Amino acid sequence: MASQQALTELAKRRGFFFGANEAYGGTAGFYTFGPEGAALKRNVEAAWREQFTLRLGNEEIEAPTVMPEPVFEASGHLDGFDDMLIECAECGESHRADHLIEDAVADIEDAEALGVDRVEELIREHDLACPTCGADLAGEPVEDFNLMFETSIGPGSGQPGYLRPETAQGIFVEFPRLKEYARGQLPFGITQIGPAYRNEISPRRGIIRVREFTQAELEQFIDPEEDEPPLEAVEDVEVTLYPVSEQHADDGEYIETTIGEAVDDAIITSPWVAYFLGVAQGWYERVGVDMDRFRFRQHLSGERAHYAADCWDAESEIGGNWIEIAGFAYRGDYDLTKHGEHSEDRFTVFKRYDEPKTVERATVDPDMAALGPEFGGAAGDVADALQELAESDPDAFDGDEVTVETDGESYTVDTEVANFSVEEQTENGEHITPHVVEPSFGVGRTVYTLLEHAYSEDEVDDETRTYLSLAPEIAPTDVAVFPLISNDDALIDVASDLADELRAAGISVSYDDSGSIGRRYRRQDEVGTPFCVTVDQDGLEGDDETTVTLRERDSAAQLRLPVAELAAELEAVFDGDREFADLQDRYERVDTDVTTD
Ligand code: AMP
Repeated sequence: MASQQALTELAKRRGFFFGANEAYGGTAGFYTFGPEGAALKRNVEAAWREQFTLRLGNEEIEAPTVMPEPVFEASGHLDGFDDMLIECAECGESHRADHLIEDAVADIEDAEALGVDRVEELIREHDLACPTCGADLAGEPVEDFNLMFETSIGPGSGQPGYLRPETAQGIFVEFPRLKEYARGQLPFGITQIGPAYRNEISPRRGIIRVREFTQAELEQFIDPEEDEPPLEAVEDVEVTLYPVSEQHADDGEYIETTIGEAVDDAIITSPWVAYFLGVAQGWYERVGVDMDRFRFRQHLSGERAHYAADCWDAESEIGGNWIEIAGFAYRGDYDLTKHGEHSEDRFTVFKRYDEPKTVERATVDPDMAALGPEFGGAAGDVADALQELAESDPDAFDGDEVTVETDGESYTVDTEVANFSVEEQTENGEHITPHVVEPSFGVGRTVYTLLEHAYSEDEVDDETRTYLSLAPEIAPTDVAVFPLISNDDALIDVASDLADELRAAGISVSYDDSGSIGRRYRRQDEVGTPFCVTVDQDGLEGDDETTVTLRERDSAAQLRLPVAELAAELEAVFDGDREFADLQDRYERVDTDVTTD
């Protein structure tokens, strides 16, 4: 296991990630992914896309990152997307008040659920001090701080806008178009990978809590009455669950079970959520998360958004702490209902009945020639109000007169003028609001987990070696190619031709001819390159075909094989058709001294 410091240093030294804008003093909460980190992140995104978009048969979109204010009025972010802020009067540093409590008070795990006043009291009761300067925080006000970055769209005073705090809203807002694309057929799933922005009060722990981060989200739209997930595809997947009941118990334990049993035993109540946990378990394993340091934890009731019926987090263990790397929520019809209420568009789908139904429908056909002169400009609204009343309370039309309210005014109309009737109508279907199930992944936190879980040290040639045991699919570079000596034209020719051949075969290659060969191996080990190929004089001499050495990262074992066979062998290994162990059976092992300086 890597200490956070060792990993952060390696990340900086080898170009994985580093604080952004360092030339200008740095900006807390913003990180730049260097060449290795950007390649690693791209590979994680590609693997996610392959699983959650392609294999699950979903569609991916790309919506803008800036959205106008009404979107966030509807979504509830404007009012409720807050964290608890406390500022130190002495040094001016801002802190998450709820985190201070959780760090200091052993039995409080979710202080946010306690509310601002109680958190203020607890800070006083426990005499909490500023983590930066040590000054007393008792008596300092705790406030709700909205995490959205505000901006202005267009010149002048413009239109207020916000950087999206989650990619999901870009999907919900476009639902009216997306349902057309899906030809109104549920279920369908839309994915999006892209940046999200949160003005975190105290960004910390490297790229784990930052102000700009990449999310990979899937919004699965379902008919709650009809659509069931293909649970059989994941029912045997083994998972480690940490449900609410175990979190509350004194001697609470993890439940090791399968997805199928967890649903049967009602540990996971939503089959859709269970299905996505099963798919995610397989995906995390594939990309290289250490599954002994991974669990699914159910949200405590205080953590859960009020609309989320069931919610689980994927958590990975990092430096002795558990961090949330993805959330899985059953969001019900909350999002689409809210956007339907706040916008002009329809956030429903038309659900066709198997057989048309005959229904009785109360309706009015007001005599506008009578309503117009009586109510003037309000006549149209009165007619609408009469129709609404007919639908909600047909008995109101039993008397001679009927009274409706619109815009705070009462209007009384002769029942005859309203022209009330009950008609039989044939209906082919109804408009329903789909429910949403959302797996939401943090890409940066996944990248960090993979680096931490891959970080390894061993002894090679009596030296401590650091290497990243990354899955070949995820490693930033597939193969490094070296001429053993940097000023030998014959070696350079073979090595650079080989690099071109491998690249043409779709393998990502790093070519390096500088410095001692030992150092070149170390550099590739530290960025997790699965294989290094070295072209040496031994391989060019002799009458037979040209040979090269192939070194595997984790074992540091080397084989000698004909250069003409290399590309095909490596392709087979990267495609998963062959393993390095198979090559060890077929090619000569050469523990040459090229690993040393
Ligand atoms: P949430 O919408 O809060 O459930 O976030 C979804 C996912 O985004 C989480 O599981 C994290 O992986 C990631 N995430 C949330 N906030 C941050 C942050 N400040 N920095 C990095 N990743 C984050």
